Amino acid sequence: MTRPAPSPTLPCPPAGRRRLPPWLRVRLPTVRAFAETEAVLRDQAVRTVCESARCPNQWECWSRHTATFMIAGDRCTRACRFCAVTTGKPLPLDAQEPLRVAEAARRMGLRHVVLTAVARDDLPDGGAEHFRQTILAVRRRNPGATVEVLVPDFNGDAASIATVLDARPEVFNHNLETVRRLTPAVRSRATYDRSLEVLRRAHPRSSEAWRTKSGLMLGLGETDQEVAEALRDLRAAGCDLLTLGQYLQPTVRQLPVAEFIHPDRFAGWAQRARALGFDHVVSGPLVRSSYHADDLVRDLPAGQSRRGPGGGT
Ligand code: SF4
Repeated sequence: MTRPAPSPTLPCPPAGRRRLPPWLRVRLPTVRAFAETEAVLRDQAVRTVCESARCPNQWECWSRHTATFMIAGDRCTRACRFCAVTTGKPLPLDAQEPLRVAEAARRMGLRHVVLTAVARDDLPDGGAEHFRQTILAVRRRNPGATVEVLVPDFNGDAASIATVLDARPEVFNHNLETVRRLTPAVRSRATYDRSLEVLRRAHPRSSEAWRTKSGLMLGLGETDQEVAEALRDLRAAGCDLLTLGQYLQPTVRQLPVAEFIHPDRFAGWAQRARALGFDHVVSGPLVRSSYHADDLVRDLPAGQSRRGPGGGT
């Protein structure tokens, strides 16, 4: 898996968006389940990162009656260069949103509920209490369902991380997103070391049963050595669940793809990650943090998921 030495900056954008290789061309099934999922989401007026981030798996996931809820509004206070979510001054939090998310999860029959949010640097707690309220509402309305949160870095604030963990999600996910060298060019305000610190702080003590998870996008111009370093850093931070996926340019306003990684190389990374001690690795071109997240919870060894296996999202 040796590759040439890195260029000091991100690669030059190609003249147009790159043609997708065959393994990234998604077939769009027209199934009733997709429309049913859409109807529930519209009816409850809840947002999903599936739409906001223009996820390539939306057809597959929604057709499985799964989705990832995006709470705390539709405007992010950051402007990461890989992400299509709108940047802007956010609106006040909607106190009813946790209840609507919980009801949407019930109507979709989710057994594993994945919650994420825009970064809310305008709020003193970064939106942590809103996360907590949403987890609690989901639990009340969906007895037995497992909950996974994909959180922003809360500017590294320990109290905000503790607030989210107070609601005991089964999985605490914070993405490292990319390798150390590319972080300043790819992410906005977030730093590589702070993200590792967030994961370190969230690492469960012996009496706590949640798991920490993180993910990297590949194809932004990173080298194999840099990816290997990021995996080692994540393990050193106590992270044991991992996703690796291909970065895809959501619109022309985001960073171009530097390289399409062949599925065989994703398989090679999965092997290497497992050898480093990650308990569960999902690695492939179309993998996203929440892609088949229910499988990950189901595959955890008995007793490592507080509420047992999940079935959806
Ligand atoms: S992978 Fe996640 S964000 Fe993408 S469509 Fe599926 S649930 Fe939504």
